[in-house]
Amino acid sequence: MDHNLARGAARFVSHAPGHWPTAPEKDWADWHWQLRNRVIDLKELEKRLHLSAEERAGVLLAGNKLAMAITPHFFNLINTQDVACPIRRQVIPRFEEGQTSVAEMADPCGEDSHMPVPGLVHRYPDRVLFLVTDRCAAYCRYCTRSRVVSGVGEQELHTDFEQALAYLAEHREVRDVLLSGGDALLFSDEKLEQLLSRLRAIPHLEFLRIGTRIPIFLPQRITPKLCAMLQKFHPLWMSVHVNHPKELTLEVREALERLANHGIPLGNQSVLLAGVNDDVEVMRELVHKLLLCRVRPYYLYQCDLIRGSNHLRVPVSKGIEIIEGLRGHTSGYAIPQYVIDAPGGGGKVPINPEYVLLHNEEKVVIRNYEGRVFEYPEVTMSSPEKTDSSNHREYPELPITKPV
Ligand SMILES: *Cc1c(COP(=O)(O)O)cnc(C)c1O
Repeated sequence: MDHNLARGAARFVSHAPGHWPTAPEKDWADWHWQLRNRVIDLKELEKRLHLSAEERAGVLLAGNKLAMAITPHFFNLINTQDVACPIRRQVIPRFEEGQTSVAEMADPCGEDSHMPVPGLVHRYPDRVLFLVTDRCAAYCRYCTRSRVVSGVGEQELHTDFEQALAYLAEHREVRDVLLSGGDALLFSDEKLEQLLSRLRAIPHLEFLRIGTRIPIFLPQRITPKLCAMLQKFHPLWMSVHVNHPKELTLEVREALERLANHGIPLGNQSVLLAGVNDDVEVMRELVHKLLLCRVRPYYLYQCDLIRGSNHLRVPVSKGIEIIEGLRGHTSGYAIPQYVIDAPGGGGKVPINPEYVLLHNEEKVVIRNYEGRVFEYPEVTMSSPEKTDSSNHREYPELPITKPV
């Protein structure tokens, strides 16, 4: 182990081979073996785990909603003795998934109505979301795209690469393409390379990124060969998806290191989930472990209003409390931006604790992370020699939403 990986080493453990004691090491390390041996049905699940009645009903329901699939690597993180295990809640269906609460939707972020061509979501002025596949290595039960992902839901993902590439070539205002789905890293190296080459052939596309949970669900996929291929397409960034510190195992850390060593800047997107990470201490351990893995916490998402996710949702006040518990108390690099993806298609909106208590023409009154209050004089808009009333602008006093 090199000295970089040795730092904080005790907090990164391997869970292999766990429930697969007879799997040869060579098979275990093979991502195709991991995919072939995913836990995808009740029989396989019950061999390894005693299910609660809520889970049993959930698994049966998943067959025509969002499929269940769990890689052996990720399955081993489950504490089989603990029904409230934070890993379990993310990947094992529950009967509550069959219930639609008020305000929940099939397409909570209004993506379908923002697709100029199939598979391309163009919501912001300069960047697009490119849905390249409907498959993932494992399925998160709160998936915002469960309507199209996993192949058993109510809709099919129609992506037309040629049409999407033609749209991108034509739309010179697009400078940033985010590959998502599904998970683009499930493609073979060759298929992914072909797609990235086609994108790189479009001169105005400056910035490419891949949104993926593969390094977490299937770290075996992050081979030196894949990294060497990705490296040819810089600037290429990656957003991974870790919700709980336990997901950062030894193998995951090594996979993330490999990506970082090939020059890929890494960000993390977490979803705030009840019983998983709705706790300042858990979140602090998560963001610190992410920095040890050279991953910068990017977004913390309020859970989208996807159908059947009510049991995983947490009040927005909890998200604000978590950010407040981090900001100032720890490294700024460790603090994600908490956002709500506005229902119906408004895009991501930052949600922050209130640090500005008063802001008028003369001053800004602010408070710090300890609650101490400070004043900063506002810069006067007119120069001193021209302070006659004709040049004088009135600034309305801003309402204070949350005074300390
Ligand atoms: C999240 C998202 C993006 C990327 O947003 P950033 O804030 O730049 O990370 C782009 N398009 C769509 C439709 C998205 O949902």
